[in-house]
Amino acid sequence: MLDDMDKLVSLCKRRGFIFPSSEIYGGINGFWDYGPLGVELKRNIKDAWWRDNVRMRDDMVGLDCSIIMNPRVWEASGHVGGFSDPMVDCRATKERYRADQIFVFAHVYAMVNHKGEPTEAWLAGLGGTPEEAAEYIEKKAAKLAKRFGQPVGAPSVIPYLKLDQADREKVVGPATDERGTLTEPRAFNLMFKTYVGALESESNVAYLRPETAQGIFANFKNVVDTGRVKLPFGIAQVGKSFRNEINPRNFTFRSREFEQMEIEFFCRPDQAKEWYAYWRETRFQWYIDLGLKSDRLRLRDHDPDELAFYSTATADIEYAFPFGLSELEGIAHRGDYDLSQHMKFSGKDLSYFDEERKERFTPHVVEPSAGADRATLAFLCEAYAEDQVGGETRTVLRFHPRLAPVKAAIFPLVKRDGMPEAAEAIYRDLKRRHNVFYDEKGAIGRRYRRQDEAGTPFCLTVDSQSAVDDTITIRDRDSCRQWRIPKAGACQALDDLLEGKAIPGDA
Ligand code: ATP
Repeated sequence: MLDDMDKLVSLCKRRGFIFPSSEIYGGINGFWDYGPLGVELKRNIKDAWWRDNVRMRDDMVGLDCSIIMNPRVWEASGHVGGFSDPMVDCRATKERYRADQIFVFAHVYAMVNHKGEPTEAWLAGLGGTPEEAAEYIEKKAAKLAKRFGQPVGAPSVIPYLKLDQADREKVVGPATDERGTLTEPRAFNLMFKTYVGALESESNVAYLRPETAQGIFANFKNVVDTGRVKLPFGIAQVGKSFRNEINPRNFTFRSREFEQMEIEFFCRPDQAKEWYAYWRETRFQWYIDLGLKSDRLRLRDHDPDELAFYSTATADIEYAFPFGLSELEGIAHRGDYDLSQHMKFSGKDLSYFDEERKERFTPHVVEPSAGADRATLAFLCEAYAEDQVGGETRTVLRFHPRLAPVKAAIFPLVKRDGMPEAAEAIYRDLKRRHNVFYDEKGAIGRRYRRQDEAGTPFCLTVDSQSAVDDTITIRDRDSCRQWRIPKAGACQALDDLLEGKAIPGDA
């Protein structure tokens, strides 16, 4: 597992998983491109999600809605009025922060100056998580204690947002030594605005969707009317969303353009609690089944004061990234809020008629809302390992075989004696079913290590014995073990291995 994000960022760049967007022009903050390996990894994650949540179920259908919708949608959903973060600017450095993400510590140095006389308390802000702030304070407190020869007491961490105005003026901003350079927090709407049509006037304003969910609600009636579904059922969508985040950071974790994988699950009001419990568990287990097995994964129920006013319960699936515990997915019990809002704003009837009970009502909704980029990042962090093999350190990405960008690499041991031809024939055969890779360049050990770094679970090698007995070598990424299989059975053997059937000789 990974402890240092910089290592992953550099591996992602070096091996073609993730690049900064428009890098040749200096990049653009909050936007990222997926390279040849990254696009396969992310696609496998989205495909696994689609297969497990849509194709394998009888109670789910899919949708693919447009990114730009009638702007009334965003009035109804509350995004035009309320989808904002509190922003503060630093007048000295021109840096911009989220007021709920600057943590301020009031410290005790505060109470005594170096002559031992009482002095005014001061406050310093630190952009970052509460954990980062706490760690910083602990160090600072120890230093001060040493300097003044006395304990400095327990400093406290407060979000800037919660300070009153008089105290805000005393705060030293995260990147300066001056007091009072931070502005009052202002609400900043996160939706990207654009204009539809030739006129750039207020009446032509439209928004890039900040979530895929509203396209689902807006199509609820269409899906019900086309007659394929009966309550309880869900509608799923995977697609791009855009948020003009004030402070994009932590690699792809907080981007301005990202992909969501969302489900709106509609049910009878009296069954919503049960469905909420079901989705909370099912979604958590999904990450575990795909390899997020460590104790870095956690399910956290929101406190009542964190809940949106319409939600009776929400849980976050969180992963302990090297930069802190952060949300991968939220599962929310949203009641009938969304459908009711759209009924109000559109004037259309979005209620549901239950044929069996002869009842009409507005369905309740449970929403599991996940981010494809955040899942990709978590799977990368979890897969990352540095092993000692034969006195050398190898970097390996231990992806679950379903997620691995390349499923197998095929090598001739050397570039002669018919080995390249035999290996290429196997490669062509396997390529019909899987994303596989052919490589004949360089020493075999180096080729193995390159595949380890790409997370390829298996390598198949044609060697001199192959011509004698029609067998080839298979090497397992995780254990580095090798064994021989009949050449003719390579395809079946790979299928079995990818499906998790045991490796010969395993306990
Ligand atoms: P956060 O509090 O981290 O901003 P959120 O609670 O606003 O996230 P939701 O609105 O619940 O997020 O969005 C659902 C999911 O979409 C998140 O769990 C996350 O996986 C993904 N997501 C949201 N914002 C971003 C972003 N800026 N970059 C990447 N993924 C995101």
